[in-house]
Amino acid sequence: MAFELPKLPYAFNALEPYIDAGTMEVHHGKHHAGYTNNLNGAIQGSSLEAMPIEAILKDVSKLSPAVRNNGGGFYNHNLFWTVMAPNAGGEPQGEVGKLINKSFGSFSEFKEKFSTAAASRFGSGWAWLVVNDGKLVVGSTPNQDNPLMDISELKGSPILALDVWEHAYYLKYQNRRPEYIGNFFNVINWAQVEKNLNSALG
Ligand code: MN
Repeated sequence: MAFELPKLPYAFNALEPYIDAGTMEVHHGKHHAGYTNNLNGAIQGSSLEAMPIEAILKDVSKLSPAVRNNGGGFYNHNLFWTVMAPNAGGEPQGEVGKLINKSFGSFSEFKEKFSTAAASRFGSGWAWLVVNDGKLVVGSTPNQDNPLMDISELKGSPILALDVWEHAYYLKYQNRRPEYIGNFFNVINWAQVEKNLNSALG
């Protein structure tokens, strides 16, 4: 059973004006589709075909670079699309709001920490909010690595992800990554992040 490119849960233009339709169309239809196809190619005929993606990533140090890069790309974008939504953003309520205050002091301190992690990741990569041992942690990973991978310095269950590859913002923002990061906060789907938190806490 091959991995499948998930449908976007909204239209390409749904996140306008913060993320433009042209970027979304290429990002989902070309980049994410490419990672998905290449992952399937890399695991074809192996026992990995029967495993959930999370289990593959957990022991990725033993696997090929193709599985690491494309498996990460597949998982990371699956999460990324769902943690954004139209008419979203603002400050989180519920458990995630409480845990952010407890872990970082305030929402604005969290926002600053997450934005710095995203802006300071050199080259391509991702910024993350993860749950580790019941606590929230912010960090970043290079390329298509993620905090589920055994090779990752940042560890935990991802509940929020931001793609800072140039392909995620260059059409609209060119070199202005900080502006893209600032606008990401207008589309964060905190209701989904809350669900991710509850799953991570079990
Ligand atoms: Mn991407």
